[in-house]
Amino acid sequence: MNPVHLSVVIPVFNEEGNLPLLFARLYPVLDALGRAYEVIFTNDGSADRSAELLHEQHAARPDVTRVIAFNANYGQHMAVMAALERARGEVIITLDADLQNPPEEIPAFLEKTDQGFDCVGGIRLDRQDSLFRRKISQWINFLRGRMTSIRMTDQGCMLRAYSREVAAGIVRSGAINTFIPALAYSLARRPAEIEIRHEERHAGVSNYSLYRLIRLNFDLITYFTTVPLQLFTLFSMACSAGSFLLVVVLATRRLVIGPEEGGIFTLFGILFFLISVCMVGIGLIGEYMGRTYQVVRNRARYHIDHVLEVRE
Ligand code: UDP
Ligand code: MG
Repeated sequence: MNPVHLSVVIPVFNEEGNLPLLFARLYPVLDALGRAYEVIFTNDGSADRSAELLHEQHAARPDVTRVIAFNANYGQHMAVMAALERARGEVIITLDADLQNPPEEIPAFLEKTDQGFDCVGGIRLDRQDSLFRRKISQWINFLRGRMTSIRMTDQGCMLRAYSREVAAGIVRSGAINTFIPALAYSLARRPAEIEIRHEERHAGVSNYSLYRLIRLNFDLITYFTTVPLQLFTLFSMACSAGSFLLVVVLATRRLVIGPEEGGIFTLFGILFFLISVCMVGIGLIGEYMGRTYQVVRNRARYHIDHVLEVRE
């Protein structure tokens, strides 16, 4: 019999303003469950006082608190991955450290896992993020829905529950550039979703700049499908057919009407368009190549500096 029922996994990157309140709200919820639990924090190379606060929390509740410290910043999904690798619970719940996901919702997830669902996603009601972020999410949700077989209402919500088997599958996948909620869904036997509250970030600002958001969303799409490459090939084929027709038309006009004014500019316009299409394609291939390279190179996904935990 596994003594730990629930593992709560929390990635932490520069969250000194949020950790005290997170501890104050999270632990009472977990204590009230009446189930054996552990909380695993991954300090993802924070530069602020997060490490100190995590040390203090570990000292205060060593029985149920574990801290994994990365030597540098590897990103939210790798921070979650490292914790999943070490989680001992039958059920694993992931949570953000900034209190956007209320810890008070945890019992609702356990209710679902008790019913036998092995991957329970949250759907954020009244999402408290900028309009820009919400619009991007809608778009990517739509694209992902069309290009992959993953069916999730709110892929970006990180408050989720996984069975031990699904979590083990995520770790075993060896994925580097991935989006854990989508990967989990693809491994689940009985997925479910529940609606939860969403709050504004308690302190600090989001760690995702526009650049990191773009990278993350590329990870989401490219890890699960090669449809973008296929679409590009189809588009290129259509372009070649169109240009061939154009050449035939221009050549015929040249023969029938003779030299025309302005023809050269039309040709330039077409040429520039085709070149830009090629560049997009090369970039797209590069994205896939880069990811293939990272996997083939087989480097460690992250480096753990130290771990704080009570050995059993
Ligand atoms: N996070 C992390 N590493 C990073 C970026 C973020 O561990 O490189 C953590 C962060 O501390 C938080 C969670 O991931 O617990 C979500 O980050 P954030 O709130 O910045 O993202 P958003 O809610 O804006 O999507
Ligand atoms: Mg947040």
